[in-house]
Amino acid sequence: MKITDLKCALIGNYPVVRITTDEGIDGYGQAEWFKPFLKPHVLFYRDMILGEDPTNVERVMMRIRRMASFKPWGAAVSAIEVALWDIAGKAAGLPIYKLLGGKVRDKVRVYNGGVRFPMNGYDPEHFAENVAKMKEAKEGFSLIKQAIAFHSPTPSHVDNYFYGEVQPGGRHPNRGLMTEKGFKHTLRCIEAMKEILGDEVGLALDCGPGFVIPDALRLAKAVEGMNIAWLEDLLTGDYTPYVMADQYREVTRQTSTPIHTGEQIYLRQNFRELIETNAVNIIGPDPLDIGGIAELKWVSEYADLHGILMAPHGTADGLIGLAALVQVSATLGQNYIAFEYPTATPEWWYDIVEGLPNPIVKDSFIEVWDRPGLGITLNSKEAQKYLREEDKDFFRA
Ligand SMILES: [Mg+2]
Repeated sequence: MKITDLKCALIGNYPVVRITTDEGIDGYGQAEWFKPFLKPHVLFYRDMILGEDPTNVERVMMRIRRMASFKPWGAAVSAIEVALWDIAGKAAGLPIYKLLGGKVRDKVRVYNGGVRFPMNGYDPEHFAENVAKMKEAKEGFSLIKQAIAFHSPTPSHVDNYFYGEVQPGGRHPNRGLMTEKGFKHTLRCIEAMKEILGDEVGLALDCGPGFVIPDALRLAKAVEGMNIAWLEDLLTGDYTPYVMADQYREVTRQTSTPIHTGEQIYLRQNFRELIETNAVNIIGPDPLDIGGIAELKWVSEYADLHGILMAPHGTADGLIGLAALVQVSATLGQNYIAFEYPTATPEWWYDIVEGLPNPIVKDSFIEVWDRPGLGITLNSKEAQKYLREEDKDFFRA
């Protein structure tokens, strides 16, 4: 079998990858809807993989893997990897999880990072009312993650939140020592959420990046006894193009609160120090940023050898990304906690993807399906309606 084309179209805001072959089998991959700018980056790899046998996934990846980097620049390679596995599975007549060693579980647990309600403010009562809505969500989540501190707009809403100049804009530009007022505000927000969730639903907190070491440690120690599931990306993380494992280790070694990072990290090599020095307790690679599902699987096994847990990231990965997350999470070892459930936007995405369970999530779990490849189909007739003019040939052979 030979790759005949690599295409990329924006469907909604998601870059969707399609690889075609000379045997009429095609494969799909997808990147986060935050990354519509990736299309030319995907197409950059086209000439490097044309003519290759897509079922030799690793051999194809060796041609392109080294020409990518941390989030957002690992996403194009990752989406291509997923499309290759989709083809390999379809060619073999097996779901991807079988090709990765078989499933360890029949249903995979998900946590809430994608079912969101608008915040009415950033004071403790607003955090409480917001998680109350999530607790009632139809997915019946057993674990909810909420953005606080530097990962949320709080620094712009609370005066003198930290000793630094507030930087406007997204992707977490703020960093610095918190004021006592800012610190106490943060703590009160966490207490308010715990009051709502009690011990019925777990609470994880996406915190940064932006904490300095003393504040990270102060927060981790202050919530000891509150049984927080994890504190995510305190020091570095989302959109930070480096890891700083030694700094994480300094925090992790001194607290019983689980410390988590890793969603922006590309490739196993960049997880090595974090894992080998036990710098965190939980890692959260995203299959669509780390370099693909086989890369995530490998890192997960290596993490397990070091007593580190897995909670893969995925909030904006869309429905093709959801299928990839289900396939790989079904194969992870007992260090698996849950993956971050992606919702699709706009809503019509649910009309163009066939093969997902209905409802998708029941009591915080997704049942693993058994169809070949990713096990989902893009209804090209329906999806065609949403293609932009320049992408109108996307579904053609
Ligand atoms: Mg995060």
